[in-house]
Amino acid sequence: MVAQRVRTRFAPSPTGYLHVGGLRTALYNYLFAKKMKGDFIIRIEDTDQSRKVEDAQQNLIKTLEWAGIIADESPEHGGSFGSYVQSERLHIYREYCDRLLEDKHAYYCFSTSEELEENRQLQLKQGFQPKYNRKWLPEEMGGAMPSSEIRKKMEAGSPYVVRMKVPDYISVWFEDMIRGPVEFDSSTIDDQVLMKSDGFPTYHFASVIDDHLMEFTHIIRGEEWLPSMPKHLLLYEFFGWEPPRFAHLPLLLNPDRSKLSKRQGDVAVEDYIRKGYSCDAIVNFVAMLGWNEGEGTEQEVYALQELIDKFSLERVGKAGAVFNVEKLNWLEKQYIKHRPSADIINTIRPVLAAELAKRETLLSVDVITGDHYLEQVIELMRERVGFEHEFVTFSSYFFFEPESYEEEAVKKRWIPETNDLLREFTAELEVLEPFTAETIESALKAFVAPKGLKAAVLIHPLRILASGVSFGPSLYHMLEVLGREAVLRRITKGIDLISVAE
Ligand code: GLU
Repeated sequence: MVAQRVRTRFAPSPTGYLHVGGLRTALYNYLFAKKMKGDFIIRIEDTDQSRKVEDAQQNLIKTLEWAGIIADESPEHGGSFGSYVQSERLHIYREYCDRLLEDKHAYYCFSTSEELEENRQLQLKQGFQPKYNRKWLPEEMGGAMPSSEIRKKMEAGSPYVVRMKVPDYISVWFEDMIRGPVEFDSSTIDDQVLMKSDGFPTYHFASVIDDHLMEFTHIIRGEEWLPSMPKHLLLYEFFGWEPPRFAHLPLLLNPDRSKLSKRQGDVAVEDYIRKGYSCDAIVNFVAMLGWNEGEGTEQEVYALQELIDKFSLERVGKAGAVFNVEKLNWLEKQYIKHRPSADIINTIRPVLAAELAKRETLLSVDVITGDHYLEQVIELMRERVGFEHEFVTFSSYFFFEPESYEEEAVKKRWIPETNDLLREFTAELEVLEPFTAETIESALKAFVAPKGLKAAVLIHPLRILASGVSFGPSLYHMLEVLGREAVLRRITKGIDLISVAE
């Protein structure tokens, strides 16, 4: 027997942004397909026209591509199974619906929404789980509705839906790749609507038909779709199709173990991109939401290719996965620590260009936008920033003059002699050759020692004048990178300002 080529799909509804849960579903489908040397496909499920959002399809695909999840077939990239947008496949669903009607697995239903609601309320009052009462189930299918009545409604052009007839008293069973065997009792299953009155199929109907026609071998999706399984399996049975394999992913939880919600933080992938998280960290983080490599490994940082190599559905847990932003922040820092500076430069150059368009700098633009300067800033700040853009925003003193000085720090670090000491030391810096971290450090130590002072007496004020803030990388290295001219200018200007304030 020739093994079938693995095909998986991510099937988002274009109703807005890409949810982090959606990214995880897409990623697991992608990892699994690539690991198995198969294909990953994106299909757009837009059968609920009232929820459709302009541009959502393009945004979803763009965000996935940003994360490195590139589909082999998609509405954008084309494919061999016709359109990958469900609203462009209506004729196909109609054809299959007719087949079910003919085979008496489905029937027309003319119940109005008021009637359905009345029926629902009644059943709730009686303590039953609400289900369609099968008012329109035809006589020849075991119901009470004569075919003449159905024909009359049809001829009058009354709106209708098509419902599947769920067989009574059978049990529906399947083996979930994550959960193991799952069984459902058909008496709890409603006669699901397959075609809506607007002529569009429901999600359940369209997705089963497409999953079959597009030859998917594995359906990997969120746990919220598990209760829909019996309806889907029955459809496979009605059509005589062999179902693909299924894997339902665990829920994403807030740290308090409630279901991940907008109220407790951002859930749109775009929000995280906007904040400056890198695709490597997000993908790594999302991959770990429910999957781990197994006992005996301490590894937490994975590149996409490594995830592809190591991913397996057997290692996806059943229990809800906690979405812990602290972990994401930690991962982001790990990535920044190890990313080649050339890559960081590529990210921060546009950030710097945008800042330079807004503010003037007294430094040489050619120097501060050059590779050499940026590399030095990156090496000094790698361990200190949380996001790549912070190389520019958090340590803006490498690019712009400080606009103010931390008030508390000035109060704490200035003694009456500070400005005189700074003036005297500045004279030494003016002639120091070469102007490097080592020479500045030795000069400073040699300057304070004979005076019986500690180095800190100058270290803190120098840092504050050069950067505006009381924290940062090694002072001596920072001064070297800034260069003699900028350092002297900043000290002189700062002394004047601070003495005026005194
Ligand atoms: N369109 C469904 C969703 O938005 C897809 C569910 C499935 O993967 O079957 O989640």
